[in-house]
Amino acid sequence: VSDANQTVIVGAGMAGWAAAESLRQADPARSIVLITADSGDYYPKPRLSTAAGEALEPDALILKKGIEQAAQLGVSLLSQTRVLRIDRKRRRVITPRGGVPYAKLILACGARQRTLPDTGEADSQPLTVNHLADYRKLRSGIDGKTARVLIIGGGLIGCEFANDLTVAGHHVTMLERADYLLPGLIPAELAQTLRARLEASGATIQTGCSLVTLKGTRETGFLARFDNHSTWQGDMVVSALGLIPNRGLAADAGLATGRGITVDERLRTSDADIHALGDCAEFEGILRPYVRALRRQAEVIAAALSSDPSIDTYTGSPDTVNIKTTLYPIAVRTPPHAGEWQPIDTHQWIHRSDGRCTGFALGGGAVAESKRAERWIGEPA
Ligand code: FAD
Repeated sequence: VSDANQTVIVGAGMAGWAAAESLRQADPARSIVLITADSGDYYPKPRLSTAAGEALEPDALILKKGIEQAAQLGVSLLSQTRVLRIDRKRRRVITPRGGVPYAKLILACGARQRTLPDTGEADSQPLTVNHLADYRKLRSGIDGKTARVLIIGGGLIGCEFANDLTVAGHHVTMLERADYLLPGLIPAELAQTLRARLEASGATIQTGCSLVTLKGTRETGFLARFDNHSTWQGDMVVSALGLIPNRGLAADAGLATGRGITVDERLRTSDADIHALGDCAEFEGILRPYVRALRRQAEVIAAALSSDPSIDTYTGSPDTVNIKTTLYPIAVRTPPHAGEWQPIDTHQWIHRSDGRCTGFALGGGAVAESKRAERWIGEPA
């Protein structure tokens, strides 16, 4: 790991591994080092919110051990190693095991779930589930019993976990501050249908409602009080309040950051030798924390580093997002700006702005129409 010409990738989530794969495809001889704070085990993260309902053990999600994936790609893996800082002057990343030189550096350090403000009253923070290790904790707290689980936040991740844990037979209560689920993402009427399906399967949903206090631990059980004066008592609290990109390493090294690490159409940061992709990257002020986006970003980086002109630049164009609420699946192309939702029928909605279709939201069986709906975008509506 001491080759001054080598490419160093920080992070072994889906983005780090996608970058390694694309770089290897573009250049069989490139020397690549992947440094990650975790084990580097390769798993499809979207399955974290469907695995309980499918009765899959956390370890069954691992497609390949980190060392196997590294060997297959011809990559040197430094697992359980946190990068502490980037020394741009000497072109090294600094870890507790020493400095690692780079010619090109790729940041794929992901994001973390937002935590609750510390009121000083809870004995432990609710669980946030953004990695396999978090998911193991969730399963170890609920397996073998009918657990009472409180999910704070009715966005995409919250709804998927509410669906999955309900399907797995647990008693789920979900709290959302807005007046309907998936706020800002889909029309309120479609959210209402999702809510009705979750409730019909046994979930309790409170909208327009916030957490006031949370007491207890996973060992003793939790007691929560909401601002509508109701209380909840149970075994596990999961917080799903949204993601915060990990931009600290980049910001401390003086790279431009917004909410995430600022990148251009070649995924370059403000230092031309440092790229970023995945949940930590921000392009034209927008975060795209999705798998399709990171795969495309990895291809663009590999092309940029091997001067391959055949690959276009990254445009940041939105993808259709499939929300894996199996009780009522949803496919949505989130509109880029304000406009209005119009129903085609109960399960199919288009979003229009300035007389054109700018997005869509499909629910239930209508998700099968999402390819057709993608062709509506930009058409007069
Ligand atoms: P991460 O997975 O967060 O990986 C970051 C890596 O960086 C980790 O290995 C971490 O250890 C490492 N790291 C961080 N800091 C350091 C450091 N200082 N030193 C060394 N290593 C460091 N997307 C979809 O497109 N469709 C879906 O259906 C979908 N479902 C999802 C369901 C759930 C429950 C979740 C949580 C996400 C879902 N997503 C989905 C989003 C998608 O999974 C993410 O966008 C993607 O996995 C992010 O990958 P990443 O590599 O950028 O980040």
